[in-house]
Amino acid sequence: MTILPSCFVAHGAPTLALDARKGADLTAWANEIPRPRAIVAVSAHWESSAPAIGTTETQPLMYDFGGFPRALYEVDYPAPGAPELAARVEELLAPLGAVERTRRGLDHGVWVPLVHMYPRADIPVLQVSLVPDAFEMGRLLLPLRQEGVLVLASGVLVHNLGAVDFGDRSPAPSWAVEFDRWCAETLEKRDFDALAKWRTRAPHADRAQPTDDHFAPLFVACGASPDGESVRFPVSGFEYGSLSRRCVQFG
Ligand code: ZN
Repeated sequence: MTILPSCFVAHGAPTLALDARKGADLTAWANEIPRPRAIVAVSAHWESSAPAIGTTETQPLMYDFGGFPRALYEVDYPAPGAPELAARVEELLAPLGAVERTRRGLDHGVWVPLVHMYPRADIPVLQVSLVPDAFEMGRLLLPLRQEGVLVLASGVLVHNLGAVDFGDRSPAPSWAVEFDRWCAETLEKRDFDALAKWRTRAPHADRAQPTDDHFAPLFVACGASPDGESVRFPVSGFEYGSLSRRCVQFG
């Protein structure tokens, strides 16, 4: 079977789900990837100290945001559940501790990009919570890539909501550009040790990421990439001023 890549996707602001122009970039990217049998997804919007898995059947989506247009609350993404994948993930993640099973529906970190990547919602999706050792989680999930499963980690590489320009009229500020560029260069070198120390090593880290949550999923994608594998950025640039759109593909 074809080996699927390990990916980090920028889920942007939730309104990305309604944005055909930006969404087309994600659709084009997904069309270049072999069609997955299933997707294992991790999002900035579900963190836990021990691993947990979400629903294994189609459930209503989580609209885990506030103050956005009504149309956003009407977006549906009835992806099939992935019970077999859930059992496999439980087995693979056992070294991180007992995997809690929940009935949690997909959060917007997962469904916003998937609406564009796989608009037919016909690929089974399993969401797994993001644990503190995200790199190790990715490493444990790596075998799934040879089983036709896409590893999809969702965050935003530059994410300072206090600095967002929702009018989307200003160019990206230099601190955002410099932080995003450091990430790209460090990823291209596959210098995961430097990347792990991003909070102190990367320029303007505290401004680019006031909290760790939207950066941490990147380590799942890195962990699921074996030594020497190629790295590319299928989508890059900024939106709403400083939000990075950079997506990463390993393999
Ligand atoms: Zn988010």
